[in-house]
Order: sequence, then C-alpha cells, then structure tokens
Amino acid sequence: MRDSATAPVEIPAVAFIDLQSQRARIGARMEAAINRVLAHGGFIMGPEVAEAEKKLAAHCGAKHVITCSSGTTALVMALLAKDVGRGDAVFVPSFTFTATAEVPVLAGATPVFVDVLPDTFNMDPASLERAIAVAKQTGLRPACVIPVDLFGQPVDFDAIGAVAKKHGLWILDDAAQSYGARYKNKSVVTCAEVSATSFYPSKPLGCYGDGGAVFTDDDEVARRLVQVRVHGQGKDRNDNVRVGLTARFDSIQAAVLLEKLAIFDAECVEREAIAQRYTKGLADVVTTPVVRADCTSVWAQYTIRSSRRDRIAATLQAQGIPTNIFYPKPIHTQAPYRGYPVAMGGLAVTEQLATDVISLPMHPYLTAPAQDRIIAAVRSAVA
Ligand SMILES: *Cc1c(COP(=O)(O)O)cnc(C)c1O
Repeated sequence: MRDSATAPVEIPAVAFIDLQSQRARIGARMEAAINRVLAHGGFIMGPEVAEAEKKLAAHCGAKHVITCSSGTTALVMALLAKDVGRGDAVFVPSFTFTATAEVPVLAGATPVFVDVLPDTFNMDPASLERAIAVAKQTGLRPACVIPVDLFGQPVDFDAIGAVAKKHGLWILDDAAQSYGARYKNKSVVTCAEVSATSFYPSKPLGCYGDGGAVFTDDDEVARRLVQVRVHGQGKDRNDNVRVGLTARFDSIQAAVLLEKLAIFDAECVEREAIAQRYTKGLADVVTTPVVRADCTSVWAQYTIRSSRRDRIAATLQAQGIPTNIFYPKPIHTQAPYRGYPVAMGGLAVTEQLATDVISLPMHPYLTAPAQDRIIAAVRSAVA
C-alpha cells in the first residue's frame, strides 16, 4: 500500500501531440463510426468518403474537395492534373517537410528552392523572384509555385500571388499543416488555384492513418483530379484518359475524420489559447512565433527560435518534456536534392533557421499546469 502522505507526487508525462486525450473526448463516437463501415462493408469509396468531401467543402467553402490517400498524394495529384512535367520549374521552399520538394521530382519537373522569411518562416516573395530568374537562365519554364503554410500559418497570398501573376505561374498551396487557418477571413485552402492538405494523425485535423485532400474552385481541374485519383479513369474502368494513381481515401478513415471534424473548430480555439499562453510566458527570453495581423494559425507547431536550443531540448528532455526540431536539415542540402537550382543569393534564412528553431509540445489538450512546467523549463534552460 502506498502512503499518500509520503508517496512522491507523480508528474504526468507531457505528450508532444496528445491523441489519447482526444480519444477520451470522442473515442466512443469514432468507434461507432468505424463499426458502421465494418457493417456495410463499403471500404473503398463508401458513403463516408462522399460525406467527408461534402462536410469539408461546407467547412472551408471550397467548391470542390477531392479526398485522397495522403497529403503527398494530394500534391502529386494536383501536379498531374495540371500537366506539370519535364522542363517545368516548380518553386518550393527548402525549409519544409520533404514532400513539398519531392512532388515536382515525382511529376518529372524540376524543383527550384526559394528562401523563407525569418519571422513567419513562410516563402519570401523577393526570393521567389530571384528563383524565377535562375530558372529562366537555366532554360526551365516557370510553371508553378508551391508555398507552404508552415506550422499552420497561411503564406502571404497577396505578395506571392503578385509575383506568380507577373510570371504566369499557378499556385499550389501546401496546406498540409494549415487546414482550418484563415487568410483575410477566408479559409486557407480557398486562397490558391489548388490547395492540398494532409490528414496524417499528428496534423491539426487528422484521421487514424494516412489521408489527404485537394481543394479547388476550378471545375476542369476537379474533373481531372477525380480521374487521377483512380488511374486516370474516364467514363468507366476500361477507359483510361490520363496517367494516374491508386490514391483513394479509405471509408474507415473518412468515418474517423468526420467525427474529428465535428470538434475541430473548438480544438482550434483551444490551440490558439495555448499558443497565446506560450507567447506570454516566453516572449522575453526566446523568439516567439509571429502571426501576421491578416491571418490566423492553427498551430500545427509552436516553434521558437533560440541560440540555445540544444540546451532547451536537453533541459526539457530531462524533465520528461518532448521537443522536436522542424527542420534541422534544409531540403536543398540533402542528397536527392543537391543538384537542383536554388534562388539567386542563396537560402541564408533557411540555413539559419535550421540551426535555431525548436518546437514545443502543442495540442488542444495541453493543460495549464503542464504548460506552466514547460514554460518554466524553457526559462531555466536559457537563464
Ligand atoms: C505532412 C506534410 C506533407 C505530407 O503529408 P502526408 O500526408 O504525410 O503525405 C506535405 N507537406 C507538408 C508541409 C507537411 O507537413
């Protein structure tokens, strides 16, 4: 028997992203939804997939939502639907998850790396101009730009859009981390010609496996995306009009997503409150994230900058608090991507950020006491 007067106080472990607390909230509903799929047996393109597309469209305001098997697939599908390929330059940040740079290569095009801004970590429009100049010099055809709403904050669509328009580029927004965020009071996935998101479990809106979606208001692009999702299928399965993929979203994942979507707006409010609490507790000792006045973030990550980030990581780890570094190795420095062009003048901000960013635990279920512990630990590490 444990004597409660002398037993050590148990400090609950802090999760980096806490899906179990979310399960405590809606687990019964999700299990019932999964069981309904098991009962009707329509595992591929069952009614839940159509319902998820309808509910997502109503939630974000996009005319067309085409769900698919992952965020990476969503990006590839968009490039295939728009016939991006050999000889095309696709402008991507290097300070991002690998998939952003991977998809132009998979489509046969050439990624050209663009620097980011030091405050929002999002694509720098001036660097995009310099990258377009490099592409033209190299004999590539500037085709498309894939800005990333990094850590949940929308890119500066007006500024990126102005450069894109000047050079005849279309925009594929990589909204894998930002579904739910707003730019000038519009849903982030309605701000570009085509947008792609991911429902990977740790994204702000996730499912219980891989999943993604493409968003567009363009009827023709939507029609092609539906074809690409199933092997370029035309009027029936023996009619193949394009090269495509097996890229469908599962009915079981759609069932889970529908339950998570029902509480997502409330979770976003909770994420915002947690982000504000972090900023209040840390702004005087580290560089805290900047969200532009014309947007909201869904805080896929809460990422600070500090010259002492290794000490922060070690101090927090010793106290059972997980941290992560997104991203320690810029993509243009990694083996498969070293041969591709970078913007004139280089990617100095990207290279600096790779040395000083660190992300703290972030999810809607982070309690105030847990957060106070994290804040105190960061403060002690940099004191
Ligand atoms: C997660 C992510 C992706 C890829 O999504 P998956 O569903 O894992 O394929 C693409 N881009 C960015 C910026 C991401 O964070």
